[in-house]
Amino acid sequence: MMNIFLYLFSIIPFIFFFWFALLSIFEKEIQASIRSFALAIIVPVILQAFAYIDIPLVNYIMVCLIFLVILVLGLSFIPIQKHDRQTENSDFRIDERDTMFSRKEITQSPEKSATYYKANPHNLRLDKVWQQKPGLMNPASSMYHPLAFAAADASFFVIEELKQSVQPEPAKTQIQKSNQEFTSFIKTWSKKLGAVDVGICKLKPQHLYSYRGRGKVYGELVQNNHKYAIALTVEMDKDYLATGPSAPTLMESAQQYLNSGSIALQLTKFIANLGYNARAHIDGNYEVVCPLVARDAGLGEIGRMGLLMTPNLGPRVRIAVVTTDIPLLVDERSYDHSVHDFCQICKKCADVCPGKAIPFEPKKEIHGIKRWQINQERCFTYWCTSGTDCGRCMSVCPYSHPDNLLHNMVRWGIKHSWLFRYFALWMDDFFYGRKPKPKNQSPVNS
Ligand code: SF4
Ligand code: SF4
Repeated sequence: MMNIFLYLFSIIPFIFFFWFALLSIFEKEIQASIRSFALAIIVPVILQAFAYIDIPLVNYIMVCLIFLVILVLGLSFIPIQKHDRQTENSDFRIDERDTMFSRKEITQSPEKSATYYKANPHNLRLDKVWQQKPGLMNPASSMYHPLAFAAADASFFVIEELKQSVQPEPAKTQIQKSNQEFTSFIKTWSKKLGAVDVGICKLKPQHLYSYRGRGKVYGELVQNNHKYAIALTVEMDKDYLATGPSAPTLMESAQQYLNSGSIALQLTKFIANLGYNARAHIDGNYEVVCPLVARDAGLGEIGRMGLLMTPNLGPRVRIAVVTTDIPLLVDERSYDHSVHDFCQICKKCADVCPGKAIPFEPKKEIHGIKRWQINQERCFTYWCTSGTDCGRCMSVCPYSHPDNLLHNMVRWGIKHSWLFRYFALWMDDFFYGRKPKPKNQSPVNS
């Protein structure tokens, strides 16, 4: 009886770990595949060895241990929740002039620099640090790769061209359809164009920057009276991102800014063709703070690294937004507190961040909102050193694993069970490493 029990109990870990090992090979996760192959052999062998030991006390201890494992695993999957609730009621609007790209742009204008640093003297010392570094996409930067940098520059060049067309003139005649028909068409077509997810919310004042910080409109008050905001996400390639902070991550970043921007632009023109106002918010030409819009449109939550954490790809996405007055149906915000709870214990992004820009501490109240805030100056200083936009934090995040059955089962457990979050984190560290090294697996690195 005992032998049959042990035999059956050996099959389950063998199948699970063998499956995991094969999947890890496919995902190019060498450490995870070696460890899961080893477990696929070791666990059944140990269990079978006990079948040949005929000492009642040993058998008794073995049965107790097996039941303990089943009990812990079972408890992990029972939906026990523990929420770190947030305060999010704030009318605060971010001034785009305080963002790093704006502060980089004004280095070309002594007048703007003088005005900005007069109003923000505390940023002058901080900005002198990254201004000493080679800079983004600079040949003197530490991750310089002539082909990858040229490729990224080509993507940014096309984005630059697109920026001129973010707000097409609406047609004179309006097409009348129901909110349902417009919404359904926009969502279906966006996904056909390459978006992984699309959500809609009402545009709120706090989604908008207070003042523009880039280009010819620098210093202008942001005024956008559109009623709705459509947020869409596109996936960033895991292999390219895994090389971060090396050059392929910059290529992928630029490519997905372009892809998301191009979808947003097509949607904008489509809406204008129907006779309604619309504006695309794409890389370098935003009136809105994209992660805030995407969160309120039900696409995810904002985690420790300050990025949108989506349910199936984590932070491994780029976002674009379209604001419009075409009649639409809005989505419910998801309020997934499990993301905040998991970020509370995980801290993997903070551990690997080469710029030491991600906080280890609990959330703090900033402008009326309890949240984590990265140190943007430190992050940007690292970018100006490496020449790339790094992405190390995104790459190692346990939510960033591919969208497949195994990883979705883990995400399901994280979402539904407080206890499972600890188990999932332990597993992630064991199989992938607490501080995984950047990988060298994209075509441009080979
Ligand atoms: S790495 Fe961990 S702490 Fe950082 S965002 Fe991802 S889940 Fe949160
Ligand atoms: S992009 Fe790099 S430097 Fe910036 S926060 Fe993420 S890991 Fe740190």
